[in-house]
Amino acid sequence: MRRGCISLGNVQCDECHRAIANPERYLAVDEKDGVEVEEGETSHYCVDCCLKKGYARYITEKGEETLTFFTE
Ligand SMILES: [Zn+2]
Repeated sequence: MRRGCISLGNVQCDECHRAIANPERYLAVDEKDGVEVEEGETSHYCVDCCLKKGYARYITEKGEETLTFFTE
């Protein structure tokens, strides 16, 4: 399961290990052995890593670029 969140400053990306500062957005994903599952260990990914992993993308709406997480 995926949840789009906003960092309060106490989150670290599990992929690139950088700190995700407030008010940056990040994604919380339940994973087990690197595979997405309904319930498992929760991994946190920064926007850059979400884009790399295909968990997020930019859409252009009314001339504005917006980040969208693929949540279920
Ligand atoms: Zn990252």
